[in-house]
Amino acid sequence: MNNQIIFLDKIFFYFFLAMNNRERKDKEFKYKCIQCGNCCRAGYEVVIEKEDIERWIKLEKSDYVQFIQIDPKCISPTGLGGYHIEEINTLKRIEEKYKKNEAIEKLEELKDFILNNHIYIGKGSPLPIYTFLPDLGRTPILIPKNFQVIFEGLEWGLVYTLKFELGGYCPFLNENLCSIHKIKPNVCRSFPYNNKGELKIDEYFIKICKGISKDSS
Ligand code: SF4
Ligand code: SF4
Repeated sequence: MNNQIIFLDKIFFYFFLAMNNRERKDKEFKYKCIQCGNCCRAGYEVVIEKEDIERWIKLEKSDYVQFIQIDPKCISPTGLGGYHIEEINTLKRIEEKYKKNEAIEKLEELKDFILNNHIYIGKGSPLPIYTFLPDLGRTPILIPKNFQVIFEGLEWGLVYTLKFELGGYCPFLNENLCSIHKIKPNVCRSFPYNNKGELKIDEYFIKICKGISKDSS
């Protein structure tokens, strides 16, 4: 139950994960991954990049597509309270890019693209994220039919993430280890460092990560 509460609370955070063994210090913390796997089941999001898909195509991993979904927040007109992330809102991008009538047409095109090229498999987490596809209800899980669809979706400005199991588990986590370690998504490779090389030291991460601690040296 507690895990579920944490999951709901933190699901909005982008997820950058790596099971590396580097030991680095960031201000008063030190970190060395001990491969506990906690961050792979903590409800963080793993955003899939074009480069990840290209890598998987080369390695003929087309079956991975079943573990990818549209991030419902990016197709939500309103977002969700204070967690709304405008940068990933596809509707907002269309409104900014096109004049009003054209934007309405583009939105209809986008709806058709989503509905014709993705498989709706039901509702995801209990979070009330409603999208501009009202018939699907809240927090729809929309799986792309193939990798080419993802390329096109990215062109539209859609955001794709790994589809975690209820409770925030990554489908690639196997006995605390990443089963696709060598070919895992880019964002997992650099975690828990951001793109400036800074260690992630927010309260939630410090609580779940067994490899981070106060540096007393
Ligand atoms: S892909 Fe691997 S490293 Fe990334 S969240 Fe899943 S199990 Fe963890
Ligand atoms: S929670 Fe920390 S120690 Fe555990 S796998 Fe993730 S980064 Fe490594």
